[in-house]
Amino acid sequence: MLNLVLFGPPGAGKGTQSTRLVEKYGLIHLSTGDVFRANIKGETELGVLAKSYMDKGQLVPDEVTIKMLKSEVMKYENPKGFIFDGFPRTNAQADALDHFLEEIDSSISQMISLDVEEEELKTRLANRAKDSGRVDDADPKVIQNRISVYRAETAPVKEHYKKQGKWTKVDGLGSIDDITERLFSAIDKL
Ligand code: ADP
Repeated sequence: MLNLVLFGPPGAGKGTQSTRLVEKYGLIHLSTGDVFRANIKGETELGVLAKSYMDKGQLVPDEVTIKMLKSEVMKYENPKGFIFDGFPRTNAQADALDHFLEEIDSSISQMISLDVEEEELKTRLANRAKDSGRVDDADPKVIQNRISVYRAETAPVKEHYKKQGKWTKVDGLGSIDDITERLFSAIDKL
């Protein structure tokens, strides 16, 4: 299996690029943010809980997120691999993912970080707010909070993969096509 963690701050382009990687490599795209939003839309118990955190730009608790992620992975029979987008976002999630993949005789192949500077991120999120309808993109205070949470809790997760020799950085600035090409060449080297 080819299991990629696509990593980067909010607005780095993980969702956009995931679509392209799915087409080229036949992987399953698992975005925890998308799963939470689908649950919010469906007014499930999980959705109600997740919304109370997401609207403030906070992380949904690890226990809930890990359980949800596992049940998503288990839905697929003989997958070629996964693109984990928005997961793991804490060290506890990274440990849980390692253990869980081990149980199914698999592992993470590589974490790929999309590198984008903060000013550019804020511009992208503000633009996305105009057409995405995402509450968490509309309020600059919530955006700032997501960036702070990213710095404090999520950015350190890359050390987890660096230690395992499974970390690659890709420049996330430029046209969408250029970034896709950079990702393809990084992945083809694995
Ligand atoms: P972005 O990367 O643009 O912030 P996402 O769609 O990945 O957006 O996530 C939106 C929100 O969903 C996050 O701010 C957080 O509240 C919640 N969320 C998503 N993934 C996780 C996760 N792995 N752990 C905890 N909360 C998560």
